[in-house]
Amino acid sequence: MSKKIYERPIITKNQAGFLNKFGSSSIVKPKVEIDGILVKDLVNQWGSPLFVISEKKIRSNQRNALRIFKSRYPKVQFAWSYKTNYLKAVCAVFHSEGSWAEVVSEFEYQKARRLGIPGEHIIFNGPDKSDKALLTAIKENAKIHIDHFDELYKIIEITEDNNLKANVAIRVNMDVGVYPKWDRFGFNYENGEAWQALKRIAVSKNLNLIGLHTHIGTYMMSADAYRIAANKLVDLAKGLKNNYNIVLEYIDLGGGFASHNTLLGQYLPAEEVVPSTEQYADAIASSLFELSANYDELPTLILETGRALIDDAAYLITKVIANKRLSTGKKAIIIDAGVNILFTSFWYKHKITPANETGIHTEDSAIYGPLCMNIDCIRESIVFPNVKKDDLLVIEYVGAYDMTQWMQFINMRPNVLMIMQDGTVELIRKAEDIDYIEQQEILPKSLKLS
Ligand SMILES: *Cc1c(COP(=O)(O)O)cnc(C)c1O
Repeated sequence: MSKKIYERPIITKNQAGFLNKFGSSSIVKPKVEIDGILVKDLVNQWGSPLFVISEKKIRSNQRNALRIFKSRYPKVQFAWSYKTNYLKAVCAVFHSEGSWAEVVSEFEYQKARRLGIPGEHIIFNGPDKSDKALLTAIKENAKIHIDHFDELYKIIEITEDNNLKANVAIRVNMDVGVYPKWDRFGFNYENGEAWQALKRIAVSKNLNLIGLHTHIGTYMMSADAYRIAANKLVDLAKGLKNNYNIVLEYIDLGGGFASHNTLLGQYLPAEEVVPSTEQYADAIASSLFELSANYDELPTLILETGRALIDDAAYLITKVIANKRLSTGKKAIIIDAGVNILFTSFWYKHKITPANETGIHTEDSAIYGPLCMNIDCIRESIVFPNVKKDDLLVIEYVGAYDMTQWMQFINMRPNVLMIMQDGTVELIRKAEDIDYIEQQEILPKSLKLS
């Protein structure tokens, strides 16, 4: 074997803006418009920061997901997860596409009822349902997903005292091979608790056992976890059929499909690592067919998908307040949107893009919000082009949880717009003002400055 030829190592400068080692360019294409409307025109009229939601995108996300599931399993019903985004206009778009409402509190239940959703199209989840909320839900034929034994006993009591019947399912938690396990909600499968609860319900005269529910986690990176979950619910459903001759109306696999937002710890972009809707659907559908060969006896598959249907339908437009240098020499960009309105920046590396052309020079930068708090960091590190004071940026994939977990802290919440299918723009939530904030406050007389 001949000796290999020695070549001296060569160090080449890694030029920002050129191809990186994965072959994709870091040159930023500006996000000039949203659904055909110029970002700068939106801000001129409605101010900055500004949330913008695309009706068209919500509808196409919902239709696409429904098509994928329906082509694999014949009976599918979506229920919109209110806590993911419960702005009226957003819920109304989902409802007009045929989605039911999935709520986890009395407040969300009331929101759904006010939008005109009948009780039987409301799935009532969550560990905290007051007696009053339960009584209303029972009277209105809502689908109540029982979380624990205390709630089960309370429902039995309420139905017996009022001579009512309740439509119920139980929430089941289980080991699906993803850790840490979500075992604080519902009844456990492995230790027999779920079966114990089902036995108690099966012999109750006032309870109609109509379904089984699980919600195994959120941003689930494994489609196979859903196969395991579906199998375990199918196993319980078979037990109910064999022991009590109960045929369930539905099996509800909850939500949790990952959106295309990239998590802080993820190296590759989310699109490249999270399962597709098709993969989730394949995993779930195959198990359900085991229940019956008869169409009429097949349960409806209910899905409570939240983030995967709304994240990419919303944008947050923000303005650059200033550029500065940190003591380390690192560049920092201050913008007018803080973590109080972009809660998800604690988990995600959002896609952030200038709204106008920039030069090709890019630099590792930190992006901070306007709050006078150290936690107000939108991005610790991002390779970003030079932007000037008053330039606009667009933060993408902000539809899920930001508009429900936001808070009035130091600054108030901004306008939210919806770009309608026909291209018109509607204001769907007004920016808060000081009167709105203070209307709930009461200053004791003795403290009034005279
Ligand atoms: C939050 C929640 C959902 C929606 O979860 P996503 O991760 O947004 O899809 C669905 N069902 C229940 C019970 C929930 O608590």
